Amino acid sequence: MLQHHLSIRAILVWTISLFGLLSLLIALVTGSIYRDLTLKNQEQALERLITISSKELLNESRDLSTELGMSLQSNQALRKAVSSQDIVALQELLENQFHQYFMTAHVIEISQLTVFDAALDTLSHFSSNFDTSLSCPNLINEAKSRTGPERLKTLDALCTRNGLTFHSVLVPIGGLRIMGYVEITSAPVHFLKKIEQTLGNPVKVTQPNGSVAYQSSDWPDTNSLQNFLDARVELTNAFGEAVIAVSVCTHINTLFEELNQTRNLIILGTGITTLIAIFIALLGLRITTLKPLTQLKEQIQLMRKDPIQMRRSVDVRGTEETRELAKSFNQMTKELNELYQSLQDMAYRDKLTGLPNRNFFHARLDQLTATDTATPFSLLLIDLDRFKSVNDTLGHHIGDKLLTAAAERFRESLRTTDLIVLPHFCHEFQEKGDIISRIGGDEFAVILPETTDPKDIEIVCRKLIQSIKQNFQINSYPISIGLSTGISVYPRDGDDMHTLMRHADIAMYHAKSSRCGYAFYEPSLEKHKHIALNFESDLKLAINREEFELFYQPKLNRDNQVVGAEALTRWIHPEVGLIPPDQFIPAAEKTGLIHPFTHWVISEAIEQCLYWQSEYPGMGVSINVSAISLQDPELIDVIRTQLATYPINPRLITLELTETAVMRDPEHALMKLKELSLMGLTISIDDFGTGYSSLAYLKKLPVNEIKIDRSFVIDMTKDRDDEAIVRSIISLAESLSLTVVAEGVETEEARQALVNLNCDTLQGYLFSRPLQINDFLLWLKEKKSLEASNSAVG
Ligand code: C2E
Ligand code: CA
Ligand code: CA
Repeated sequence: MLQHHLSIRAILVWTISLFGLLSLLIALVTGSIYRDLTLKNQEQALERLITISSKELLNESRDLSTELGMSLQSNQALRKAVSSQDIVALQELLENQFHQYFMTAHVIEISQLTVFDAALDTLSHFSSNFDTSLSCPNLINEAKSRTGPERLKTLDALCTRNGLTFHSVLVPIGGLRIMGYVEITSAPVHFLKKIEQTLGNPVKVTQPNGSVAYQSSDWPDTNSLQNFLDARVELTNAFGEAVIAVSVCTHINTLFEELNQTRNLIILGTGITTLIAIFIALLGLRITTLKPLTQLKEQIQLMRKDPIQMRRSVDVRGTEETRELAKSFNQMTKELNELYQSLQDMAYRDKLTGLPNRNFFHARLDQLTATDTATPFSLLLIDLDRFKSVNDTLGHHIGDKLLTAAAERFRESLRTTDLIVLPHFCHEFQEKGDIISRIGGDEFAVILPETTDPKDIEIVCRKLIQSIKQNFQINSYPISIGLSTGISVYPRDGDDMHTLMRHADIAMYHAKSSRCGYAFYEPSLEKHKHIALNFESDLKLAINREEFELFYQPKLNRDNQVVGAEALTRWIHPEVGLIPPDQFIPAAEKTGLIHPFTHWVISEAIEQCLYWQSEYPGMGVSINVSAISLQDPELIDVIRTQLATYPINPRLITLELTETAVMRDPEHALMKLKELSLMGLTISIDDFGTGYSSLAYLKKLPVNEIKIDRSFVIDMTKDRDDEAIVRSIISLAESLSLTVVAEGVETEEARQALVNLNCDTLQGYLFSRPLQINDFLLWLKEKKSLEASNSAVG
């Protein structure tokens, strides 16, 4: 439980404090040991001093006693009394000497004076207040045992009598001829108490019987004895008997004070050392471990909040372990960051083109429309025209390459910031450049930041169109595609991502159906788009409800004579009104409704054509057949039945097939076309130049006519490239002896240019727009009458 709350810091503080305490304890214990030792030392030193001092003092006592003995033995009266063994005279003499000495000198404290004969038998003795003789038997015995000149020496010894110790000195009387001996017995305490002065400490002298012979006045009482150190020395005499004890005591307060002071110093020192150790350890810990660890902790928290922080690395510092840890951590975050980056990349980048993908785009749009950062911008939705057929006929791998190439061209024509590593969506992301992303199959989207002026946007749109104008060369196929762009502007056309996208989408649809390249969103476009969404269900009913109508657009030869008409279908929707084929044909193809629809177109057109023959013999009809229809197993039968029903020269019936329709499954197409050709029908390749027909292959096909796509014709008088393409298509057709039709002739100059290039047939708004059948017939009539009047004039 506890360990959850323990930090390294706490553990360290605890450990060091414990060590501090321990060293304190050791200091205290050693302190008291030291104290005891010191006391003992002191005591021993004192004992030695006592011993030395005692000896010296006893020597002094001996010397003085000897001196006294010497002066006594030189006394003539004493000598006389000894030699005569006059006990009375001796007694008197000794008493006089004793008193005289005691009164006058009192250098020593004489207890007794004794006189012996030469055989050491006592003749007389005098002491003031002792009943028994104080003479020392051991000393006398020793003196008795001596012989010869030895006997002339003075002897001395400490002797115990009646529990008290005395100092006895034996001095011979009579010089060389020994007559007797005198023994001076004195109290040694008289000398020993002088230790008081020599050592400067209180002294106590204790007799063998335990009585105190002397005690200094300042000898401490029992209560205060603990503050003193007392050393006691038992003095022994030459015979090994304990004779007297000398105690000296010395005040140990100062010693204790010093000891205490030392102890306090040690305690203080230990405490301070411990604190310093704690401080240094904590500081070290902080620098070497805690700081690096804290940094790691903070970095992890930062990373959790914002993954962009993974790009940062932490400082490598501290101890070897923390350095190692930081290094590993950095390595790990680096790898994590790479992983994160590649995940981000996977999530936000389109694998094929390398452009940001839909997720990125939406996120960026969301960010741009967030209120706090909102700045105006425009949104472009680009859809490639004819991409689907490339994919269908040449395969996905070509389609993929085409997309990649187109993406590259788009990118080059925009001011895109290169997003080598896609940014994380954090607040710091402030890309100012254009952003292009692929948001679906052949759909791209562009953000033009701070660009809302239609003129500026148009420039970009035209640049984009220009960028793909030149054919793509993919696996040696020349491929041409177009694009339709829808534009919505923030915040005018919507203030959130979804509205902006939807509006751009509507504008894009409009651009596609009106073939105008690009279109700005307008609220009026909404209606169309709304209904267009229900196409597929409405389409089913449209045939039965007879909502389709064929319009006709005339085809003229170089001499301005009508040679035929192209049937172009319109859907007259009960609610929406006229819907152009570009909008519903793809839906019909998708749902399979294209088959019954084509059957209807064929029978309708053939019927019309037959009808025309009476008035305009030889005027043919061109029918558009979609790629899917070539796969229709009933197609041939339907045409055959129709031709049987309406007796008409099949040569007048032209089937227009796009290049892509043929190339989707060339083998199958060849088979079908051969059959149709055998039936006598005219076969035309529509929208020529936009696809990627292998010209060599074209030769193998039973084709009678090629129609140059209107995109080349419309601008041919202004665009040299277009003119060159038209020219080469015409010469190619000539070399293959094919009829050439130019559609999209809008101006007289274009017509003239085409005539000069030897183009066979011309079609376009210059002559007439596609017309309802009645209008068409009226137009024919008017033209005929005009020609008639012209020729009449001519
Ligand atoms: P398309 O076969 O290339 O048809 C020619 C288109 O060019 C027509 O568009 C026509 O209105 C337009 N056009 C003619 N002259 C000019 C001109 O001078 N300038 C310009 N800018 N345009 C001109 P429309 O009628 O909108 O038809 C579009 C496409 O729909 C046709 O292209 C054709 O591929 C397809 N389509 C039309 N009717 C049918 C049909 O009944 N069946 C099938 N499968 N497709 C059809
Ligand atoms: Ca056509
Ligand atoms: Ca065409």
